Amino acid sequence: MDAEDLRLAVYRAFAETGRAPRSDELARQLGAGAQEVAEGLDELARGRHVALGDLGQIVMAHPFSAIPLGFSVMGTRTLWWGGCAWDSFALPHLLPGEDEALVATRCPACGRPHAWSVGRQRPPDGGQVAHFLVPAARMWDDVVHTCAHQRLFCSEDCVAAWLAATGSARGYVMDLGTLWRLAAHWYDGRLDRGYVRREPSQAAAYLRGAGLSGSFWGL
Ligand SMILES: [Zn+2]
Ligand SMILES: [Zn+2]
Repeated sequence: MDAEDLRLAVYRAFAETGRAPRSDELARQLGAGAQEVAEGLDELARGRHVALGDLGQIVMAHPFSAIPLGFSVMGTRTLWWGGCAWDSFALPHLLPGEDEALVATRCPACGRPHAWSVGRQRPPDGGQVAHFLVPAARMWDDVVHTCAHQRLFCSEDCVAAWLAATGSARGYVMDLGTLWRLAAHWYDGRLDRGYVRREPSQAAAYLRGAGLSGSFWGL
């Protein structure tokens, strides 16, 4: 079985249905055995195309998530879990026919609900801020933990309150415009055959272009 066939099957199932395909569905679709699918998913996990759970099940295929991490993304006919602030803002850019989606979450500090209509043309209005806890170099140490801590807050005050309440060190705070530029093209190509991850120098250039800087991002 070709790993790229498997990767595409996973990504396209997430895109079309909002949920992760089960291993038996992948096996049937690809005409493969259960063991082959399991080995293929392990290979994709090593390449950081998917994150697997303890039972080998697909938990994430960025920017898609099979588990709730604080965000919902509502399209015209499909509902997705948004993996994090970055992933949620990326989905409208990636999904065919979803030029705009409703991204909703709650402030982790005070519980206040927030929702934005996120499209491809310009960042949504709003004075909220995103806080990313885990620095870029360590994001894949435990990527589910990392995504769970890339959240949107009412304000800098709510970020400060959350850091104090959880005893966490401040990570990186950005406004909605910066988050939107970060998300806009980061995942380009993931629904297409032959997707190739950016080289580190290309990734650095992309991050700088989005307006990010500093050691948090390795820049
Ligand atoms: Zn994420
Ligand atoms: Zn708040």
